[in-house]
Amino acid sequence: MTQEKSGLPEGLHPETYAVRQASARSSYGEHSEALYLTSSFVQHDCETAASHFAHPHEGYTYTRTGNPTVASFEQRLARMEGTQCAAATSTGMAAILLVALTTLKAGDHVVASQSMFGSTMKLLGTEMARFGVETSFVSQTDVAAWQAAVKPSTRLLFAETPTNPLTDLCDIHALADVAHNAGALLAVDNSFASPILQRPVEFGADLIVHSGTKLIDGQGRVMAGAVCGSETLVGGVMSTFLRSGGLSLSPFNAWVVLKGLETLALRVKAESAAALELAGWLEQHPKVTCVHYPGLASHPQHALAMRQQSGMGGTVLAFDVAGSTPEQLRANAFHVIDSTRVCSVTANLGDVKTTITHPASTSHGRLSEEQRQAAGVKQGLIRISVGLEHLDDLKADLLRGLDALA
Ligand SMILES: *Cc1c(COP(=O)(O)O)cnc(C)c1O
Repeated sequence: MTQEKSGLPEGLHPETYAVRQASARSSYGEHSEALYLTSSFVQHDCETAASHFAHPHEGYTYTRTGNPTVASFEQRLARMEGTQCAAATSTGMAAILLVALTTLKAGDHVVASQSMFGSTMKLLGTEMARFGVETSFVSQTDVAAWQAAVKPSTRLLFAETPTNPLTDLCDIHALADVAHNAGALLAVDNSFASPILQRPVEFGADLIVHSGTKLIDGQGRVMAGAVCGSETLVGGVMSTFLRSGGLSLSPFNAWVVLKGLETLALRVKAESAAALELAGWLEQHPKVTCVHYPGLASHPQHALAMRQQSGMGGTVLAFDVAGSTPEQLRANAFHVIDSTRVCSVTANLGDVKTTITHPASTSHGRLSEEQRQAAGVKQGLIRISVGLEHLDDLKADLLRGLDALA
C-alpha cells in the first residue's frame, strides 16, 4: 500500500524488478533488503507524528498500517504482475476476503467457478451469504455458462486458473469481456501459475489474488497473500480497509516472500519443465489411465494454456491410476502414494520439495461421491506438485508403487 520511489528507472523487465524493486535502503546501505521487525515507528516530533498519522503515505507510524519491508514485497509483486499497486495480506484467504469486503455489499451477486480452492468456495458461497451476497457457481471452462449466470446485480466474477487438482483453465480474456460488459470486475486467483507464467492483467483482469504461501514463498515456510490491481482499487479502498481491518502481513513473513520473489522465475520454469517431462512419462505407463496437465497436447485446453501461460504447463499435474471399482482405485492410489520415499505426503504445493496427495480423501474429502464424480475427482486420482529433485529420482519414487499394481 505504501508506494515509494526506489530510484530504479521505469520500463525494466520483470526479471530485473524481481531482484531490485524494494523500499529505499536505510542509512546503513544494507545490500539485502532490511527486515523491519518492529510494531511501531518513532516520530521525530509531535508535528511530524501529526502529519504521518494524517497522511500514512508520507511516513510510517504503526506496522498494521504500513511497514517498509511489507512495502518492498508489495512494490516488487506489483512490478512482476504489471499492476500499479499491490496490497499484502496475512494469508491468501485474507486477500480473497479483502476483495469480497471491498467490492461487494448486501444485494450484490458474484459469478465464480465451481472448481475453485475449497476455502474460496466456502467464503464466497456460505460466509458472504450471511452478509446478503449471493454467489452462482458455474463451469470452470464454459464461458457461455458464466455469461448466462450474470444478473443486473452482478458486481464480481471470480476465477482461479488453472484449477487444483485437474488443471482445468479459465479463459481470462473471455471472462474479462463478460465481466466488463456487465459492469462487473474480474478477479483472478493466480496462485497456481504465478506472474512468471501468467499475468492476468494483460488479458483484462482487474484484480489478481495470490496465496504467497505457495509458489511465491516456494519453500513452505510462511503464510502470505496479496491483491494486485489499480491505484484506485488496491491503492485506495483496499489499502484503507486492510489497515482498519487488520488483514496485514507480518514484516517477517513479508521479508521471506520478498526473497522468494527473487528466485520465483528460476523455480517455476525448472519445476514446470520437470512437470512436463514427468507428465509425458506418466502417460506412457500401463497402469496410468489419464494424465491431467496443460502442457500436454492431450489436455483439452492445451492451446489456450500455451497462449495464456507463456507456453508452459505449470508445476502441478494429476493422474488417474488403473482400477475397476472405486474401492480398488482408492487402494491403488493409496499404494502408489504410500510407496514413495522421496515425495512428501502433504497438502502444500508450489514447494521445491515435491508433494503428492490423494484429492478424493483430502482436499475433496468432504464432498459426496456424486459431487466428486461431477468434479471429475475420482478415487484413483493422484496430484503431484513438482519440486526440484532430480527427475530420475522422482520417476523411481513413483515406479515403486506403480509397477507393483495388479
Ligand atoms: C492455498 C490457496 C489459497 C489460500 O491461501 P492461504 O495462504 O492458504 O490462505 C487460495 N487459492 C489457491 C489457489 C490456493 O492454492
